[in-house]
Amino acid sequence: MTQSTFQLLPLPYAEDALSPIISSKTISYHYGKHLLTYLNNLNAAIEGSGMETLSLEEIVKQAEDSLLNNAGQVLNHNLYFSQFQTPDKPSAPSGKLKEAITKDFGSVEAFQKAFQNAGTTLFGSGWAWLSADHNGHLLITQEPNAGNPIRRGLRPLLTFDVWEHAYYLDYQNRRADHLAALWQIVDWDVVAERYNKVFL
Ligand code: MN
Repeated sequence: MTQSTFQLLPLPYAEDALSPIISSKTISYHYGKHLLTYLNNLNAAIEGSGMETLSLEEIVKQAEDSLLNNAGQVLNHNLYFSQFQTPDKPSAPSGKLKEAITKDFGSVEAFQKAFQNAGTTLFGSGWAWLSADHNGHLLITQEPNAGNPIRRGLRPLLTFDVWEHAYYLDYQNRRADHLAALWQIVDWDVVAERYNKVFL
């Protein structure tokens, strides 16, 4: 059996590119230390698990316990870090994704309010998710700890990390302010690309 070793996702921007929404110091700890630790733990836990040949997504669907936690955190952070861009070129939902947001939430603004609320009211550590079902219907869920909606058969499109390590250096206890600011760096083209794959 070929041993799979997962690699650290290359950041699609410089460590200071998301400042001041997310500082380079937060990126250096969050990406360079927290994600790296999850990745190293995943690569250690996969040895002898019988899942050595599976994709990261399949591992998250099938694993339990420590392997699930570390694989989940790697997948979640890969989706998280790859959905941002510099704040100098704000983007907005368009096309099929915008139509679906409007249909399922009333408006982009109403969606953003509901999504932020999901992140703000999640007790403890976890993730707020926008996902699509196999028909393209959108829904917002809260997942504690390392949870990913892929475990419920949904396709994850957008996520806000509400673990304190994601914001405490920059915003201290002001989680809601951090989440509200994240809209300035969401790369909606990435989210639309994820959504369009539902229909392939
Ligand atoms: Mn995190």
